[in-house]
Amino acid sequence: MRLITFKAKENDAVPAVGLLSPDGSHAALLSSCGVVYRDMNGLIEKITGEEMDILREKSKDPSLYTIPMEDVILMSPIPYPMQDVICLGLNYTEHAMEAAAYAKDSFVSKDRYPVYFSKRVNYAPGSGEAIPSHEGLVERLDYESELAVIIGKDAYGVDPSDVEEYIFGYTVLNDVSARVLQTRHTQWYFGKSLDGFTPMGPCITTKDEIAFPPKLAITSHVNGELRQNSTTDMLIFGIDRIISELSRGMTLKAGTIISTGTPKGVGMGFDPPKFLKKGDVVTCSIEKIGDLVNPIA
Ligand code: MG
Repeated sequence: MRLITFKAKENDAVPAVGLLSPDGSHAALLSSCGVVYRDMNGLIEKITGEEMDILREKSKDPSLYTIPMEDVILMSPIPYPMQDVICLGLNYTEHAMEAAAYAKDSFVSKDRYPVYFSKRVNYAPGSGEAIPSHEGLVERLDYESELAVIIGKDAYGVDPSDVEEYIFGYTVLNDVSARVLQTRHTQWYFGKSLDGFTPMGPCITTKDEIAFPPKLAITSHVNGELRQNSTTDMLIFGIDRIISELSRGMTLKAGTIISTGTPKGVGMGFDPPKFLKKGDVVTCSIEKIGDLVNPIA
């Protein structure tokens, strides 16, 4: 099933959690299934196996979906992540090569060990919301289409073979990057953490719908032009390795978001580079999850 956060188009409308119909045209409030959670973070942390079974069963009924999506505002499934998003750098071989060709000193990978970094996310825009261009501060604005994993229960010391048990679901994340800030400050944190730099959506697809490890088509388009085109089984370090390794020393709390890295075809990978400008529209897409569409404002 596909879980969403959305709100009515009134001023001060309170966001609600719901289900998205298979064709993406209609929504249903979670409460119409008799399951009540105030927000997605609370749901991920507290939902029981029985409640998940109820939702899974009810989500198959087409008559459940009575709210046309054009009548509401779709938000990111987790508009306010509880912690920084954990990210993988240089986790597709050809992307590591294009990054090294762009700025060798800033994109060094140590081969046998994943590159981990994080993004601060005060508010994650959903599909349809704008990415601010931060004119005057940001040059070389870039996109990165990524598969993000949502942890479903506190994970510590997890064996690689048990990792799937700790996953709640998956979403599409655009790891928006200001390349000048990213490389100038040595650590990537500032250039990855500006307001609006972590769009996510359109939904969370629960793990029961996606075989593990996920082998899904992943793309990005800018103004309709195909830029990235790969599959999520091309990760250098797989999700089992990532979660197992991190959880050896840090508890990954329920609700933790881990973005698994981006394939080749980002703006800095082209010669000449194709960075984003105001008015562009970026679409990041993953099979079985959907399209994350964001204009640059
Ligand atoms: Mg990235």
